Amino acid sequence: MADAVSLRQRYGEDAAIYAGGTELLLAMKLGIARWPHLIDIKPIDQLRRVAATKDLLRIGATVTHWELERDPVVAKALPALARLEANVANIRVRAAGTLAGNLAFAEPHADPPALLVALGARVVLESAAGSRTLLVGEFITGMYQTALGPGELIVAIEIPLPARDVRMAYVKFKVLERPSLAVAAVATIRDGRFVGAPSVVIGAVDEVPRAVPTADFASADVRDPRTAEALAEAARAAVDPSDDLAGSADYKRHLVGVFVQRALGSLIAGAA
Ligand SMILES: Cc1cc2nc3c(=O)[nH]c(=O)nc-3n(C[C@H](O)[C@H](O)[C@H](O)COP(=O)(O)OP(=O)(O)OC[C@H]3O[C@@H](n4cnc5c(N)ncnc54)[C@H](O)[C@@H]3O)c2cc1C
Repeated sequence: MADAVSLRQRYGEDAAIYAGGTELLLAMKLGIARWPHLIDIKPIDQLRRVAATKDLLRIGATVTHWELERDPVVAKALPALARLEANVANIRVRAAGTLAGNLAFAEPHADPPALLVALGARVVLESAAGSRTLLVGEFITGMYQTALGPGELIVAIEIPLPARDVRMAYVKFKVLERPSLAVAAVATIRDGRFVGAPSVVIGAVDEVPRAVPTADFASADVRDPRTAEALAEAARAAVDPSDDLAGSADYKRHLVGVFVQRALGSLIAGAA
């Protein structure tokens, strides 16, 4: 770790961190990006750990999607994340690609950011100056843009573990290889009503994950069709899609409403 941090400080923007390489090597092969130096962090044992306390799941920076999909600690602490990870990309990408690399690359058509933002997850960054922690929603600042400083690397992702009765849903839609729409919803439902406001985040539609303003839904009756329609409308208003190969902006906004309603249905039907 000390070597990685000091190399990062020494080379700054002349070096890229090399984890699974699924994005990095592809970009270099295509000539889209070029770095004189690569800092290979895969051999750092302490970054390959998953650990949970009662309140927190900590995922080291070189843990792959495939490891998360199968990790017994994740399966117990956060099964929604294990299920999400099992449906990222394909087995070849999951076997090499890491969750930290997924966040650091900040390709908008990604699965994990929506759920991580909905759960209030943080990235832990380390540099020669020390460490700092940022919410995933603060870390991803744009398309392929993050708040990562030139001397920093991600060492872990920390996810606060919700109370046992919190329900989670993650649904996605894709026409190409990667998701063109991802909806994560996290809520407590008791006696048919939300307890507090649900957390609903739309990923893959805009350049960054969008949290839907949901304060008005605290205590809303979840089975009332007006709740579902109002939540869908709030989500459609929260996104600003553009026309591209995955569809027109109007089509995507329409799908956001459809998938938010599906996520709500899944929350209602699902166990905590
Ligand atoms: C064919 C294909 C299909 C895909 N489909 C999906 C999909 O359906 N859903 C989805 O969510 N994703 C998908 N992905 C993206 C995949 O999840 C990422 O490629 C993978 O997680 C990146 O991790 P990596 O370890 O390979 O990163 P690398 O390629 O090693 O690095 C990617 C970037 O992150 C930086 N980086 C890596 N680790 C760190 C760190 N610890 N600290 C700081 N910077 C770091 C690198 O310098 C580089 O800029 C797909 C990718 C491919 C190639």
